[in-house]
Amino acid sequence: MTQRVVITGGASGIGKRLAERFAETGARVAVCDADAHAVAEMAEAYPDMIVRQSDVTDAAQMEAFLAEVEAAFCGADVVCANAGTGGPAGLIEDLDYQAWQDCIAVNLHGAFLTCRWAARVMRAQGDGLIVITTSTSGQWGHPYRAPYSSAKWALVGLTKTLAMELGPAGVRVNAIAPGAVEGARMDRVVAMEAKASGKPEDEVRAQYVKGVSLRSWVSADDLADTVLFLASPAASKISGQVLNIDGHTETLV
Ligand code: NAD
Repeated sequence: MTQRVVITGGASGIGKRLAERFAETGARVAVCDADAHAVAEMAEAYPDMIVRQSDVTDAAQMEAFLAEVEAAFCGADVVCANAGTGGPAGLIEDLDYQAWQDCIAVNLHGAFLTCRWAARVMRAQGDGLIVITTSTSGQWGHPYRAPYSSAKWALVGLTKTLAMELGPAGVRVNAIAPGAVEGARMDRVVAMEAKASGKPEDEVRAQYVKGVSLRSWVSADDLADTVLFLASPAASKISGQVLNIDGHTETLV
């Protein structure tokens, strides 16, 4: 069966790799992203995908995007609430309230709008899979990253709750928790945390590696492998779980 896959924040990083890997399996793929430039590049590279500029925190934009997907796909088999932002880095007494709210909005409110639509569509179908992207920051305290850590912990609560609400209807809900993923985003995060903590970037980067049993970062393909597994019949009894793809985090900082 051709899978119908929806990915938020899908025009770069992990979301883009997920989209590419699902497309390689023959799936029909729709992505949205807030970044106009990334959306234009993705749309040009993958004309068979639905690629739209839509901000996950904007209810009207998301309703328009998801209505278009619903009309085109007549449902959805896999929905990845992947869009996220690192938010500000700093001690809580130095954090700006608006920056706090913006970080919570993208990571948490965006997942709400995405999952609310997915739940309605999948409950009616009687099957489906929702994958919410949390983080190892949603399982440990993360100094200098209070907004991000708080939002990612909240997503674990959302995952567990939706798994209970939707399980009886045959819908599975899981979260993936990436560790530090190689790429431009972690380069930005390392630079931000180095500035907030006064440590050199090399030291911050080394701390991330040292805190992981496998002593390595992960790749977007490691995450795509896990999501493809979750979307396969082999994972038909896996729901309500947070799957860490992190090389086993011992300490975050
Ligand atoms: P990324 O910055 O490369 O990609 C995120 C994408 O989301 C970008 O294309 C961005 O434009 C989009 N986005 C941001 N705000 C948006 C909004 N309001 N509406 C729609 N799209 C929006 O980051 P990534 O590493 O690919 O992150 C993907 C997910 O993985 C995020 O939820 C992130 O928190 C999570 N995560 C990443 C890492 C890591 O090390 N990179 C670790 C743990 C968790």
